Amino acid sequence: MSKGPDTLRLISGVGAKGPACFVIETAGRRLMLDLGEGPPPGFLPNVDNVGPLDALVLSHGHKDHVGGLQLLGKLGNPPVYATEIVARGLPKNLTVRPLPISGIGEVLGIEVTTGRNGHAPGGVWLHFAIGGGFLYTGDWSTESILYAYDRPAKTAAIALIDCSYANYNKSLGECWSALEPFAERGPLLLPVPANGRGPEIALEFLRYGRTDIYVDDAMDRALRQLCTTDTASVRGNVDDDMKALAVTVKPIEAARGVMLAASADGTSGATKQLLQQWASLSEPAMVFTGYRAPDTPADRLIKSGRAEFLRWNVHPRLSDVVTLVQQIKAKTVIPAFCDRSQLPGLAQAFAPAQVTIDGPVSL
Ligand SMILES: [Zn+2]
Repeated sequence: MSKGPDTLRLISGVGAKGPACFVIETAGRRLMLDLGEGPPPGFLPNVDNVGPLDALVLSHGHKDHVGGLQLLGKLGNPPVYATEIVARGLPKNLTVRPLPISGIGEVLGIEVTTGRNGHAPGGVWLHFAIGGGFLYTGDWSTESILYAYDRPAKTAAIALIDCSYANYNKSLGECWSALEPFAERGPLLLPVPANGRGPEIALEFLRYGRTDIYVDDAMDRALRQLCTTDTASVRGNVDDDMKALAVTVKPIEAARGVMLAASADGTSGATKQLLQQWASLSEPAMVFTGYRAPDTPADRLIKSGRAEFLRWNVHPRLSDVVTLVQQIKAKTVIPAFCDRSQLPGLAQAFAPAQVTIDGPVSL
């Protein structure tokens, strides 16, 4: 590969909700940012024309960001850079190199600044000292009561920003106001990702005074990790509440109290069986809170009216993205993980910054 200008290639993750996969080409090196699968199961990025990589850098451990690792063989099996917490969940046969969870690190001689993304255990945004600065947010949220968020401080001329919610602007407080009455009406099942909003919603119910909280094994494990090995991703003021939560929760054995179980869409984990068991009964109430891919149990139960959908924010509101764009003084914004039809509205909101999803973008 020749030492051409620094560029960003948008392999997958723009124009529609899809697996994250982007490639930076700089000084003759090729770095991939995330390599996801889904949300629809089996939906992988097309990496046929990418060529051998020098590194894969991971923002966090969610499937739509790391679920495509089986493609690494096609990409020359490069070393994988990840934070310690994310690395723990990766296959053991990979060559893993460390990324700081909040601070300055280095990938192939390029200075990389990271900060906690407020979204998932071990998750980070990444700022690369290339050109006028390049920021990749991965998934992020400023609002989590559980996961810590560090504001990117360095300027970035080009920013590839999670805009999953496009122009949506409701606060997490409004999400809670809509959800809380469901738990007052009888037993409630919340299918959730254990390594994302699940523990956060459980924490909110505990703070509200509920002690009848029941979880599956995946949630139980996640809660324990957030009190021990994953504390680096937790807000400083919630340590004690998380410890209280970890000893309060009990296993799900019947339809009672507030139940939280993985997976979020019911295609796997404890919810796969629980949803089948309870779909034809009137209790418990079922509420899905995240993105749902077509033709999943979540999608079917909502369409039939058996389950409700109430979003729980784990991505930024439009106002959060606007603030970020201004703070980092971005000149060009690449909105990720949202539909192409949202671009005119986003362009208006981010002006004078330019908006594009047409790569390659010069860095
Ligand atoms: Zn995520």
